[in-house]
Amino acid sequence: MGLDRTSLAAFMAGLGEKAFRAQQILPWIHQRGVTDWSAMTNIGKGLAARLQAAATVRAPELLSEHVSADGTRKWLFGLTDGNAIETVFIPETDRNTLCISSQVGCALDCAFCATAQQGFARNLTAAEIVGQVWFAEHHLRRVLGHDERVLSNIVFMGMGEPLLNLKEVIPAIAVLLDDYAYGLSRRRVTVSTAGVVPAMARLQEGAPVSLAVSLHAPDDALRDTLVPINRKYPIAELLEACRAYVRGDARRRITFEYAMLAGVNDDPQQARALARLLRTVPAKVNLIPFNPFPGTQFLRSAPEAIDRFRDILLQAGLMTVTRRTRGDGIQAACGQLAGVVRERPHRVVQLHAV
Ligand code: SAH
Repeated sequence: MGLDRTSLAAFMAGLGEKAFRAQQILPWIHQRGVTDWSAMTNIGKGLAARLQAAATVRAPELLSEHVSADGTRKWLFGLTDGNAIETVFIPETDRNTLCISSQVGCALDCAFCATAQQGFARNLTAAEIVGQVWFAEHHLRRVLGHDERVLSNIVFMGMGEPLLNLKEVIPAIAVLLDDYAYGLSRRRVTVSTAGVVPAMARLQEGAPVSLAVSLHAPDDALRDTLVPINRKYPIAELLEACRAYVRGDARRRITFEYAMLAGVNDDPQQARALARLLRTVPAKVNLIPFNPFPGTQFLRSAPEAIDRFRDILLQAGLMTVTRRTRGDGIQAACGQLAGVVRERPHRVVQLHAV
C-alpha cells in the first residue's frame, strides 16, 4: 500500500520482474481498489501466484464510522499494534477533502489541541498513510454510489506533525501524485506544520506540495505558550523558511492557520500585528474558530470578534477566510482528533454498519 512507483519497481526487480510491472499494478490497487493479486488480469497467473506468496496489500482496519449531519465522516482505524488513528472526509460543493493523520498522537504539545493531550506513540508508515486514502476513496465510491474519483484534495491536517515524519510522508505523497495511482496535482495536496523549520526545505525537495503553517499568534511571547515548538524555531525563522518555500513560484502562497481563541489571540491589535508580520510573505490566512474538546481551558472567539479580526486582515490586503466548522457534532473538527488508543479495548468503540 505504501510503495511508490520507484519502490514497487525495486520490489518487482527483487522478484526478477521488470520495472513496468509497477505501472501495471499501481492502477489496480489505487484506482480500482483491488487487493487480490489473482484479480489483476494483465499481470499473468504466474506472477500473481508469486505475489500471493510474497506480499499483501492492506489498509488499516475500520473500527468505526461516524457520519455528521453535514456529510462529514470520521473514521477510526485500528493499526496492527493496537494503536488507532482518525481520518476525516469533508464534502464541499466544489471539492471533496480528506484530512489524514501522519502520526499516532503528536509530540508537539500545542496548548489548544486535543491530539496533544494523547501524547505521542509513533510515526505512521507510508502504507498506513496511503491506506487512509485508499480506504476513503473506495469506501466512498461504494456508499455514495460514485463510479469515478471521489477525493479531490488531501490535507495532512489530522493527527500528528507530518514534518516530523517526512521519511514516510514523502513516499506517501509520491503515491498521491502519481498518475498511475491517485494522480492528484501537487496544489491539491496540503501539508500542515506547526513550524518544524529545518524540515520545510526537505519537504520542498522531496514533495513540493502546498504548505500550511499553524501560526496562531502574531508574536513570539504568545506563540511560545500556544505552540511550544516556537521556542526552538521562533516566528522570524519560520517566516524566512516560508519565503524560501515559495521562492521562484509567483503563484504560490503559504496558508497560515490561526485558531480563534477568545481573549487570547483575537484582539484587533493582534490582527494588526498579524497583518504587519505577514506583509513580507505570500500569504493567505485561514481563521479557524476554536473547536472545544473535553478538559480544555480555551473558549471559541465570538463570531463578531472573528469577523472584526478578518476585516482588519482584509483591509490590510491579506487574503483571509474563516474556516467553516465541519463535523464538530462528531468530534471531527480541527484539533478534535484523538484516536490514539494504544491497547484501548475495541469494545468501547461502536462499530457502525458500513
Ligand atoms: N501538526 C500539524 C498538522 C495538524 S493540522 C500542524 O500543527 O499544523 C490541524 C490544525 O488545526 C492546526 O492548524 C492546528 O493548530 C489546528 N488546531 C488544533 N487544535 C485546534 C482546535 N481545538 N480548534 C481549532 N483548530 C485547532
